[in-house]
Amino acid sequence: MSLHTSLKIGGPADFLVYPQNIDELRHVLELAGQHDIPLFVLGQGTNLLVKDGGIRGIVLNLADMCSSCVVFFNQSFRAGAALPLSKLGWEAANKGLSGLEFTTGIPGSLGGALYMNAGAYGASISELIREVSTIDFTGNYLVRSREELEFSYRWSTFQEEKVIILEGVLELIPGDKNKIMQRVKAIRDDRLAKHPLYPSAGSVFRNPPGKPAGFLIEQSGCKGMAKGGAQVSLQHGNFIINRENATAGDVLTLMEIIKQKVRDNFQIELEPEIRVIGENGGE
Ligand SMILES: Cc1cc2nc3c(=O)[nH]c(=O)nc-3n(C[C@H](O)[C@H](O)[C@H](O)COP(=O)(O)OP(=O)(O)OC[C@H]3O[C@@H](n4cnc5c(N)ncnc54)[C@H](O)[C@@H]3O)c2cc1C
Repeated sequence: MSLHTSLKIGGPADFLVYPQNIDELRHVLELAGQHDIPLFVLGQGTNLLVKDGGIRGIVLNLADMCSSCVVFFNQSFRAGAALPLSKLGWEAANKGLSGLEFTTGIPGSLGGALYMNAGAYGASISELIREVSTIDFTGNYLVRSREELEFSYRWSTFQEEKVIILEGVLELIPGDKNKIMQRVKAIRDDRLAKHPLYPSAGSVFRNPPGKPAGFLIEQSGCKGMAKGGAQVSLQHGNFIINRENATAGDVLTLMEIIKQKVRDNFQIELEPEIRVIGENGGE
């Protein structure tokens, strides 16, 4: 899985499957159900820490079947779950549609963004979504409107369901193309300046109420701290980077040290934002 995650960490998956269409996907779901094989849906792996023992069961990648995008009614997009979120943002800006500017520089797919309710600069994907199509692990296809879904800070209903997000309809706002482009470029530059260049999975911990996790981590003296090949980024306290051949074990150890230091200094319990999955071992 180190080849399929932005952190470049993770042991092997038993199966990595790329269904080509909905019929093939249904077939995989049926086989998994019949043989009791666990399923994991992979987006672009930018919010994941896969443990060193890898993933038992089937990892599904929708890149070959959910990558199309249609613009309709001049201001809405029907977009496949595997499409890169920031590509959608640039495409919208190019068409003079506002709303997705915040996605510039957020790596990952639309499906992953809906699952995580990704956001930045005070905006999040849940504000733009109008409709989401899913198929559950038993093969039931469902289209739900925004009103039928729940979202909060880095949380969505999907996190409590066994579903595969297939596509979403996003509603944007027509605006001045030059101004939208200016904002997109300003956000890109801001991100390039703030985000480390080494492999990472973005913010490791959720922001607790009150103070950003990055601030608490920095004030607890963790910036630059290292374990094996993993290091707390010197640029951004809430990023752990893979400096050199880090293992998931290295990252998990660093996470525990950070949590302890923040607990000791601020009596605050940090919770992971990244999804830690897979089996121990192999370290
Ligand atoms: C440099 C960097 C900067 C980042 N900045 C931000 C930021 O500003 N804001 C922010 O919110 N996040 C940020 N992230 C985190 C990450 O990019 C987002 O959470 C992103 O939305 C994850 O998408 P993904 O496709 O990579 O999902 P993955 O990491 O592949 O998966 C994340 C979760 O979503 C589920 N999932 C993915 N696709 C589907 C699907 N089609 N159906 C059902 N479940 C699915 C997976 O099973 C998994 O549980 C950053 C990451 C990096 C590396």
